[in-house]
Amino acid sequence: MSNCNRNHAIHAIAARVPAAPSPAAPASPDGYGADVFNEAAMREYLPKDVAEKLLATVNAGAPLDPSIAGAVAHGMKEWAIDRGATHYTHWFMPLTGGTAEKHDSFLDPAPAGGAVFQFSGKNLVMGEPDASSFPSGGIRSTFEARGYTAWDPTSPAFIKRHANGATLCIPTAFCSYTGEALDRKTPLLRSIQALKKATVRLMGLFGLPEATVKVTLGPEQEYFLIDRQFYLQRPDLLQTGRTLFGAPPPKHQQLEDHYFGAIRPRVLKFMQEVEDELWSLGIPAKTRHNEVAPAQFELAPVFEELNLAVDHNMLVMEVLRQAAARNGLVCLLHEKPFAGVNGSGKHNNWSIMYGGRNLLDPGRDPAQNAIFLTVLCAIVRAVDKHADLLRTTTCGAGNDHRLGANEAPPAVISIFLGDQLADVLGRLVSGDAGAAAAPGTLRVGVDTLPALPRDATDRNRTSPFAFTGNKFEFRAPGSSQCCAAANMFLNTIVADSFDAISDKLEGVPADRFNAALQDILRGILRDHSRVIFNGNGYSPEWAEEAARRGLPNLVATPDALAPLLSEANQALVEKYGVFSAAEMASRHEIALEEYGKKIAIEGGISLEIAKSMILPVASEAYSDAAQALARAAAAALDSGATALRARADALGRGLDALSAGCADLEAALAAGAPSGILAAMASVRTAVDALEHEVDDSRWPLPKYREMLFVY
Ligand code: ADP
Ligand code: MG
Repeated sequence: MSNCNRNHAIHAIAARVPAAPSPAAPASPDGYGADVFNEAAMREYLPKDVAEKLLATVNAGAPLDPSIAGAVAHGMKEWAIDRGATHYTHWFMPLTGGTAEKHDSFLDPAPAGGAVFQFSGKNLVMGEPDASSFPSGGIRSTFEARGYTAWDPTSPAFIKRHANGATLCIPTAFCSYTGEALDRKTPLLRSIQALKKATVRLMGLFGLPEATVKVTLGPEQEYFLIDRQFYLQRPDLLQTGRTLFGAPPPKHQQLEDHYFGAIRPRVLKFMQEVEDELWSLGIPAKTRHNEVAPAQFELAPVFEELNLAVDHNMLVMEVLRQAAARNGLVCLLHEKPFAGVNGSGKHNNWSIMYGGRNLLDPGRDPAQNAIFLTVLCAIVRAVDKHADLLRTTTCGAGNDHRLGANEAPPAVISIFLGDQLADVLGRLVSGDAGAAAAPGTLRVGVDTLPALPRDATDRNRTSPFAFTGNKFEFRAPGSSQCCAAANMFLNTIVADSFDAISDKLEGVPADRFNAALQDILRGILRDHSRVIFNGNGYSPEWAEEAARRGLPNLVATPDALAPLLSEANQALVEKYGVFSAAEMASRHEIALEEYGKKIAIEGGISLEIAKSMILPVASEAYSDAAQALARAAAAALDSGATALRARADALGRGLDALSAGCADLEAALAAGAPSGILAAMASVRTAVDALEHEVDDSRWPLPKYREMLFVY
């Protein structure tokens, strides 16, 4: 038997005629946001007073005036119909990891026959999807299956197009009958509110007038592309999003020739399609490039307000997948689709704007620098006190393979500040104002605070949480994860730190403010500097050093999720109204259950592939080799028998190892413990990958790494 499927795939890919470059046409930003019900659309389709009221909610966070819902719905419907929409949907983020939509048409049959398109204020403001089939972690009792979706006016409605029309999508929060959050947006919005409040309070103590706070996010999205022909021949990719088998090819990423390399025309065509669509959706896709691993790429947007940026990232992932399918490709968003090469992350660039000023920008004037140092110290305190909580947001069956794999930060959460900034903080503690007047430094204004270096942006790619000049970059989150998770806790713990500082500053007379501030910051650094680490986060020495410093190192998902149940963490999220203890426990239950199910699925498909795809071809190869050996012996040939014996032996040993591995995996699956399943899967993989080198290439049923990663 010869397995031709792989070769067919390669021939088909080889026969693809590359699309010619498009004729020179002036690139234009004109269509940007054309499919978004943005300010321009509101002004065109809504009565003036209605538009003003809605914009006050969108831009300044004013409470929504319920009386305008009907008028907004009418204008939104007219706008959507003008763009070809026939249906609308409340678009939300249940706890499945993706987004959800249930379409309703605008159609309203008229009693006299015929029909009109209708869309009421009630349709806009609230939906009642059946919640019983979404994960709720025990929150939603079975007799109350209703869930509610509630319009989020701060994220604009948009149009999703398909070949035969379009759908109006209305971003919504999703909660239970009793108001518990069943989604990712609700706690995110609550956390943004908490951080805004704490920021206004702290800035007020610095004497700043009240201003609008905007939490900002720029998520860098990494992904892989492979040809769809290969994908369809990999049941592991189809079922789990990652390859469970595959021997490492001789050439993978060791020549470092892919990163920032010239982008292949087929990929560039795909990227352009992605960006055209994103721009229509008002998503500011900005940067595209080849990433480190072969067939790995990145897309980065211009940063936006956090809630909007989270919605936009969910759409980015969807558009990537769909555009890939149109181009005969598959976009893999899994954190570790291929063993042995880099996995994919989603670097979470986060900052806070106060009235147009970035609080993480060291800035020009001394007063601003005092604020900068305060915010920095608050974040150091937050991350040290609640590293375990941040870590919970990066867990998962996928990201477990990426974190700590010498390509992504380890499970230990630490902060990188760079040597210069660390030096500034060191002098803050020691009270040595240092080279305040030296050139190239900035005066901080508070006499005793040290000067700041003008460019504090060293680079360190090994830190999970790095200061990068004017923002923090949380690098641990995985490529498939929803940004809401990490940021809801980041906001909460920083709000808590801001409040802790405000509690101490409040009531301090103006003439003692600077001294009091310095004392507070010094105290924070004394207690929390252990979380600052500027060295190589990938080194084994750091793991040891981190243990000496008492930093948590929660490696596997089940352990890393446990902090969701700690009393201290539950009290914190309750204090800031982000989660009730019950909601928090439900998140734990859902995440743990999802983890267990995913590992069981991986184990199941691993066993199936091993037994029904690999074992047969390995047996045939063995049988052929054994027969060849027998024939050689019968013919009493002078040579060749040693080689044939060696090959038959190698195949036989491989078969034995494989069948032993399968028996272990079968037992582990029956026992059900994820750690047992993972261990057994690893030994099955070792056996299969070894056989890949022994079995004739023409028989091997699974597209190989060298094909998937290089033939596209
Ligand atoms: P890198 O060197 O990590 O590629 P970039 O300057 O390209 O850094 O920024 C990466 C991401 O960080 C981009 O999405 C960018 O918009 C975002 N970013 C920049 N400034 C901020 C900020 N103040 N708040 C949030 N994200 C930001
Ligand atoms: Mg980056």
